[in-house]
Amino acid sequence: MTNDTIAAISTPPGSGGIGVIRISGRASLEVLSGVFGRTREGVEDCTGFRSHTVYHGYVFEADGAEVIDEVLVIPMLAPKSYTSEDVVEIQAHSGNVVMNTLLERVLANGARLSDPGEFTRRAFLNGRIDLTQAEAVADIINARSVKSLKVAASQNTGVLKEGISQMRSRLMEVYTLFEASIDFPDEAGETIETEKALSVVKDVAEDCSKFIQRYNDACFIREGINVVICGAPNVGKSSLMNRLIENDRSIVTSVPGTTRDPVRESFNLNGIPMVVADTAGIHPTNDLVEIIGIEKAKEHITAADIILFMQEPGGCVPEKELDKVVPDGVKTVFVFNKTDLAVDDKLPEMPEKYMNCPKIGISALNNEGIDELREMIVDLAMRDLDIDSGTVVPNLRHKLALQEAAASLEAVENGLRNHLEEETLALDIKESIEALGRITGETAGIEVLDHIFSNFCIGK
Ligand code: GDP
Repeated sequence: MTNDTIAAISTPPGSGGIGVIRISGRASLEVLSGVFGRTREGVEDCTGFRSHTVYHGYVFEADGAEVIDEVLVIPMLAPKSYTSEDVVEIQAHSGNVVMNTLLERVLANGARLSDPGEFTRRAFLNGRIDLTQAEAVADIINARSVKSLKVAASQNTGVLKEGISQMRSRLMEVYTLFEASIDFPDEAGETIETEKALSVVKDVAEDCSKFIQRYNDACFIREGINVVICGAPNVGKSSLMNRLIENDRSIVTSVPGTTRDPVRESFNLNGIPMVVADTAGIHPTNDLVEIIGIEKAKEHITAADIILFMQEPGGCVPEKELDKVVPDGVKTVFVFNKTDLAVDDKLPEMPEKYMNCPKIGISALNNEGIDELREMIVDLAMRDLDIDSGTVVPNLRHKLALQEAAASLEAVENGLRNHLEEETLALDIKESIEALGRITGETAGIEVLDHIFSNFCIGK
């Protein structure tokens, strides 16, 4: 697969200062020789071009007479390139016609149009990066906030890869011991020191748990915080939602939903992606239709990271209804709207159970208290979490593999305690090694790779 030479436009479509065509593969310089020359005289042999050197010149029409564009060309020869293969980048003037004409010339001279993510896939297949780093490239491109960019950037440097590789090699040592005692049962005798094996297995299982916990604590950094607004009809939920997304109008996108779903919008709050949903329902009622509404709200609230419970300042908090829908431990902010209509500034007393939840009075109509509420949401989201450069936040794929590894390690641990046969122990530990290998890519199947790289754009 990596025998041929691929090419693609690596910059986004449309007009711009510079557009880049990237070529990768053994024949990169030959392909270049068919299209490029340093003088207006025509194409020339580029096979002797030096690596990491910028060449100024022209790309020519098929007959070599007409110049298509004046360009800069940079050869980056193997292995010091993005793909670890011979790479050539052609920097031209960016415009759809000029870029496509240049690409056609490159393809006509021996390159094949790359698949989505194929450059990064080659970097992975050639061992320059592991799968977590390849995923980080996509995360960097798709980062929706400064924090998610930080996480992706540190993953790109290989922190997750290193952590997982160390766990794997520690398990590999134990596996080798098991194998040795299976192959040479007589000599093995005391080969397997149960206590030593147990301590390694327990250590690695703990590392798995830490990574999984990190995912649970911080997955919103990648995926966004799920904020659900709930409260009685007419309390001002839609008005608040509009206020929250207003300042970020430029980056608001509608989240498609079915008619049964509440309205959902995504926006960015202080660099953290948020998805906010507006549900109906929660208030004391005997009305059957409204009870169904409460049930529906419950479904959305179950998936919430933060609940904004809205009511008007006058009434008391409907504790019983809240208990029915708010799962224990979900971060809840009590938002008292329409303070402009209130006779005094006093907010209602909170029931014992919700005493520690933040509360705030706002007027969605007059845009009062909205900034403070925004800060409250961010504080609540970031509570218990410090994200720095170097922080590892596994993605869902990693988490599932870590869970598998942890389950196999638990089996090994039990097996060791119960003195099970080495064959069984070896099998379980092998499974955990394989699960971890899927994260970095050593044991990832073709369908996993296809799935990951199909999410890339062409040219990356
Ligand atoms: P929802 O049914 O909870 O989504 O409530 P809406 O956002 O549709 O608002 C219901 C009514 O309350 C509308 O007439 C709003 O203009 C009004 N409203 C919303 N927020 C405020 C506020 O802060 N003060 C006042 N006086 N009216 C408000």
